[in-house]
Amino acid sequence: MLSDVHNHLYAVADPDEVVRESRERGVGLIVTNAEEIDTARKCIALAQKHDIVYAAVGIHPEYALKLPESSLAEVERLLNEEKVVAIGEIGLDYKFARSREEKDRQMLFFSKQLALAKEYDLPVIVHSRRAHRPVVETLIDSGVTADLHWFSGPIDDVINAVDHGIYFSFGPAVLHYDAYRAVVDVVPLDLMMLETDMPVRFGGGEARPWWVRQVAEFIADVKKTSVDNVIEHTWKNARRFFRV
Ligand SMILES: [Zn+2]
Repeated sequence: MLSDVHNHLYAVADPDEVVRESRERGVGLIVTNAEEIDTARKCIALAQKHDIVYAAVGIHPEYALKLPESSLAEVERLLNEEKVVAIGEIGLDYKFARSREEKDRQMLFFSKQLALAKEYDLPVIVHSRRAHRPVVETLIDSGVTADLHWFSGPIDDVINAVDHGIYFSFGPAVLHYDAYRAVVDVVPLDLMMLETDMPVRFGGGEARPWWVRQVAEFIADVKKTSVDNVIEHTWKNARRFFRV
């Protein structure tokens, strides 16, 4: 079955309708990712309403710059809710963090959420922008099971992450940026998952979970294997990663 392990289901106009159509089009697993506390609650509510939906809760690096540290205690409380299967999305984003203080602030939130992941034995879904080296090194140091979402390189960091068993989720961006061919080539099928980052727009429209089929077609082309094989691997990987 198809799986979309990183999106923001709460951000579309009619999430219930998207779930219904996703199911109809062969999607069996959707993981909706929070950005902060309010969206974490929305993720949990959607997950508890729909059997194929699961929630990742956490503070996005952009919000690490805006929220008090006490919001991390709120994240911890939400980890006990039913259908919460990961901490996400968390990470570093140096587009938003420019000064030393801002970068330290993001690292504090990132590290503390990795510590929570360890304590609660949960995987993490990781956002990385212009911060690839520190993100990969921090993840390796933490030893937490991690997925790098929408990660485009540099290829040295991809190889380093692969060597340490870090997963990669690929979305419709692979169809629009040439750099992805090399990344997909290097990441083994056993460490790949599919995502859309819905409601991000690609080619003029909001992404939808079933778009992962096109991503699987791209991966099959690079890996010189069948689309069915890619779909089967990514499905098994997602179930192993989230333990669902
Ligand atoms: Zn996202």
